[in-house]
Amino acid sequence: MQACVIASPQQATLQTVDIPEPGPGQVLLRLEGSGVCASSLPLWEGRDWFQYPQQPGAPGHEGWGRVEAVGAGVSGLARGDRVAALTYRAHAEYDLAEASATVRLPEALASAAVPGEPLGCAVNIFRRSQIERGQTVAIVGIGFLGALLTQMAAHAGARVIALSRRGFSLDFARACGAAHTIALDDHWKVIEQVKQLTEGRWCERVIEATGLQWPLQLAGELTAERGRLVIAGYHQDGMREVNVQLWNWRGIDVINAHERDPRMYVDGMRTAVDWMSQGIIDPEPLYTHRLPLDRLGEALELTRNRPDGFMKALVTA
Ligand SMILES: [Zn+2]
Repeated sequence: MQACVIASPQQATLQTVDIPEPGPGQVLLRLEGSGVCASSLPLWEGRDWFQYPQQPGAPGHEGWGRVEAVGAGVSGLARGDRVAALTYRAHAEYDLAEASATVRLPEALASAAVPGEPLGCAVNIFRRSQIERGQTVAIVGIGFLGALLTQMAAHAGARVIALSRRGFSLDFARACGAAHTIALDDHWKVIEQVKQLTEGRWCERVIEATGLQWPLQLAGELTAERGRLVIAGYHQDGMREVNVQLWNWRGIDVINAHERDPRMYVDGMRTAVDWMSQGIIDPEPLYTHRLPLDRLGEALELTRNRPDGFMKALVTA
């Protein structure tokens, strides 16, 4: 089979490797594609703690496709079943999945691309946000995740204020159901706009989805008294400065909405697939770039540079 190998930082090559055999409790998937994730960028860019070459297919973890073979002891899955799966080497034609880490795709999604992990991630963040009808929800940062959260919050009956530095992202946010959009440019200007939109009450829920210092700080300023500040961005490049005095004064709940337990991911994926079937979320317009497997490097560069119009890249096997 063909698998993409990250041989050294910023070097991806297609290699022919053996198709793996499913062990007990596993299934072999013939992948249709996999999503390309911003969390793979440190590995792509090269950090001291990574070893190269990486395993074939790594770090693809957003794959979907059909069950090709079933390992011992697996029940409820058969050859030909179409599934999304949380796996670890999905930038390839085939990958192994634990049967427990697969989610069966219904007929209604027969032609849909389903990179399960980021969809499940959005569901899990949404759940921890505890958004209720009638609330005002600010979403700071409209990438793939922020756009999905906009769809979910709008569907739940909240009034969404979407904030992004990118103009086209605000167009996406509007299409996803945002009631208001604000350019993420000037600190005091943004605060003033949100103050006016909420008549000085600020937002019951604020979701920060950028992973950057300033938007995190801004997100605190936009959170109402007894509101909930949900940190969904990845803050992995050093310490952050936040205004605890303000958090403390307003008595806000601060939630770090990440999951580490794979079972939570798969649970979120199951709900995401269900919500896709019901039309509650529609990620399809957000897959702005589709590239064949041998162009994984380009897809990662797009994910890093986020050119105008970019929301999410998929590579297809
Ligand atoms: Zn991911």
